[in-house]
Amino acid sequence: MNQMVTGAINVTIALPKQLEQEIADDIEKESVFVSPYLEKIKVAADRMSAELFIRDAAKAEEVVDKATRYVEVMAKQRTGFDIKLFLQNKRQDVGPFQPDVNAELVSRGWVHDYGEGQVAYRGPVLKLAQLVNAKAVELYARAFDLVDGHFPSFVSAETLHKCGYFDSHPNQASFVATVIEDFDAIEEFRRANSCAEGAVLPPQEHMHHGGMCLNPAACFPAYPTFAGETLPEEGHVVSWQGRVFRYESRNITGLDRLYEFNVRELVFLGSEEFVANCRQRVIPVIGGLAAFFDLEMKLQTATDPFFATVSAAKKFFQASQEVKSEILIPVLKADGSVKEMACGSVNLHGAFFGERFDITAVDGAAAHTGCVGLGVERWVLAAFTQHGFDPARWPQPVREAIFA
Ligand SMILES: [Zn+2]
Repeated sequence: MNQMVTGAINVTIALPKQLEQEIADDIEKESVFVSPYLEKIKVAADRMSAELFIRDAAKAEEVVDKATRYVEVMAKQRTGFDIKLFLQNKRQDVGPFQPDVNAELVSRGWVHDYGEGQVAYRGPVLKLAQLVNAKAVELYARAFDLVDGHFPSFVSAETLHKCGYFDSHPNQASFVATVIEDFDAIEEFRRANSCAEGAVLPPQEHMHHGGMCLNPAACFPAYPTFAGETLPEEGHVVSWQGRVFRYESRNITGLDRLYEFNVRELVFLGSEEFVANCRQRVIPVIGGLAAFFDLEMKLQTATDPFFATVSAAKKFFQASQEVKSEILIPVLKADGSVKEMACGSVNLHGAFFGERFDITAVDGAAAHTGCVGLGVERWVLAAFTQHGFDPARWPQPVREAIFA
């Protein structure tokens, strides 16, 4: 290819086979992780080919190669798993869904969007986020012998490695960097900034990251705290609000896809029987939470959006073992059509974390674990979508707590 060529170029590549719609959608969404020179991938209507929107024609050959390997891996995914419905809640409010909730929350000053996947909020949005937390804790405490916990936002790469995170979501990891411990490098950094208009970052060779990461799944920092322990007969049920970071590249949007968000987490640790029992008991509790906020909701089997190269095998395992179910709450897409937004999940991990972190159940076997994570900001978005901005449409206890 002529290296002098510059400017954007579109190239169409053939797909290995006609893809199912679900896979075609995944290919488009995850294409942000293929190459910095690739703007996007658009799968053709017949799902037999895909158009690559390449930013720099000089890089076309390289991008076509990467994109071809990427779609080959993605095309191997299996879909059409049997979906099992565990629970459903029907909404009482008969009003229409509210369109453009994110924009409306910003224009009311209740949400400040920094534009990089972080938001600040106040007023009714803050009160609602706090109420989602408080109500979940209240219902959990009624159902379980609950212990409150608190865990840091940082997590070591060593812990993430043990949790298998780099194996399943390598594209979403975030590393914390510092200036190297060097008198001259620190002074250079200080001086560069003291007279600069904008922030000046240290040069790459003066940046150091020693494997500290931002936590990407609420429950991970909990497991090392039980390492080497034998759990009591009655097991442990711990809950807390965790701050979670998942790098989404250009896929960030409003409250539905943030880089940094809050999760109300619930973790069960104990024998296999104890954890299976907790999972059964938590299902109606989640129904109670949806009923309290009067949200249309269902809980059904699901699979994780793993990174392309591991997707096929892991998705199959999750779906076939029913180890993951998702709390789906309908909201509106930008075009006004309804989409089911995953607002949380119920997960069974088997003895995976028990083995990795040497946690033992009372029967002497590796402890089993399970968790329930609720994406707080997504519950907020879902509630404003389903009840709108007229307080009269909200259930009375919620209305009194958030619009007062
Ligand atoms: Zn978890």
